[in-house]
Amino acid sequence: MAGPLNENSRVVIVGAGHGGVAVAGRLRQAGYDGKIVLLGDEPGAPYHRPPLSKTLLGESHAQPLKPTSFYTDQRIDLRSGVSVVGIDRRHRNVQTAHHGTIGYDTLVLATGSRSRPLKVPGSDLDGVVELRTATDAERLRGLLRPGTRLVVVGGGYVGLEVAAAVAPHGINATIIEREDRLLARVASRELSAHLEAAHRNSGIGVRCGAEVAAFVPRPDGALAGVQLRDGRRVEADVALVGIGALADDALARDAGLACDDGVLVDEDSRTDDPSIWAVGDATRRLVRGADAAVRLESIPSATEQASIAVAAMLGHDRPATEVPWFWSDQLGHKLQMAGFVHMGEETVVRGDRATDRFALFHLKDGRIVAVEAVNSARDYMAGRKLIRDAVPVDRRRLADTETPLRAVALVA
Ligand SMILES: Cc1cc2nc3c(=O)[nH]c(=O)nc-3n(C[C@H](O)[C@H](O)[C@H](O)COP(=O)(O)OP(=O)(O)OC[C@H]3O[C@@H](n4cnc5c(N)ncnc54)[C@H](O)[C@@H]3O)c2cc1C
Repeated sequence: MAGPLNENSRVVIVGAGHGGVAVAGRLRQAGYDGKIVLLGDEPGAPYHRPPLSKTLLGESHAQPLKPTSFYTDQRIDLRSGVSVVGIDRRHRNVQTAHHGTIGYDTLVLATGSRSRPLKVPGSDLDGVVELRTATDAERLRGLLRPGTRLVVVGGGYVGLEVAAAVAPHGINATIIEREDRLLARVASRELSAHLEAAHRNSGIGVRCGAEVAAFVPRPDGALAGVQLRDGRRVEADVALVGIGALADDALARDAGLACDDGVLVDEDSRTDDPSIWAVGDATRRLVRGADAAVRLESIPSATEQASIAVAAMLGHDRPATEVPWFWSDQLGHKLQMAGFVHMGEETVVRGDRATDRFALFHLKDGRIVAVEAVNSARDYMAGRKLIRDAVPVDRRRLADTETPLRAVALVA
């Protein structure tokens, strides 16, 4: 087993996104003095992904994760535009596409995820795009102007955020979702219904239970529309495919590391090779409150794993873990979610849905397992604590906005 790091060690991090940058930063915060090499295959400096969808047409969509001085000040050897193509575990080095090999004592895989492809005829047409990177966002921005008809395939968070971001700019957006409701995989029926109404009220088309059969070209090869399996057709100039993400675990699989739709990591975020760690979207792990190992796609999860991995690399105590949480902004709705909605067996509403300020608490065996808050940060914060404490709660008091949430626990 590899020992803790020291000032003569070299840590190589593959993937310069939210997880990779967090590992590099936390290593220095925790006092590690050795070498850090951060390799990212995207051009330019690491940036925030959430604004790509939330403020797609705004000025603030491209926001660097850190100022350039951060990497020099922290002695982080950031190498952008470098793609790692292989790992030699026996000799402890990685191979890059154009720059030879780089040796490591400790390797961190933070390769993230990639867009799930939609394998139907016409998906390679010019007007059919995805949104994962800043380059994708630039491409999509270049295709949109007032009057453009945009079809968003997939009613997940990214799709909803894009439709919400472009609608005020005169773009006619229609969301096409295969399931019978939006956000079917990640949100409760109540939240889905609330957000669907908000989107419709903003002039965004929503078609659930609709599956794409093909993207139809015009004679000049541009996109003409989207053909649905039920025979209907939606006219479109641009189509954004946002049907989820796949773990980018190919490097790990090729290197013989245990993977199962994501690199499998233990509670310390370590793979089955003691010198290799993995964090972020690329991993599958056990988390607080889940009934099986899960693959979380969120920044809080990636940065939490970064802290866990760094502590273990340096031989420090494992930091406390959080209930998984996520946020989204769309159409003036500040959404904050924590826990696992699908585990809930009943729902208690706190607040008035008509005012767009409420929280949905999902309970199992009388205990809160998830909270979904709309413009209600205080309920969300208290809800997270109640999930963590796993105490039985009084449903009536929980629903009563006059009762503070600190007073809803049932005392034995
Ligand atoms: C449009 C959009 C909006 C989002 N909004 C939110 C939000 O509001 N809240 C939230 O919590 N999460 C949000 N997410 C999800 C969040 O961005 C991810 O969960 C987070 O970025 C995961 O961090 P990561 O480090 O695992 O992966 P990433 O940040 O994706 O970074 C992985 C990096 O590794 C690079 N890479 C991959 N393979 C290689 C290789 N072989 N060699 C070199 N580099 C490689 C990739 O190009 C990428 O730059 C959003 C995602 C998208 C796409």
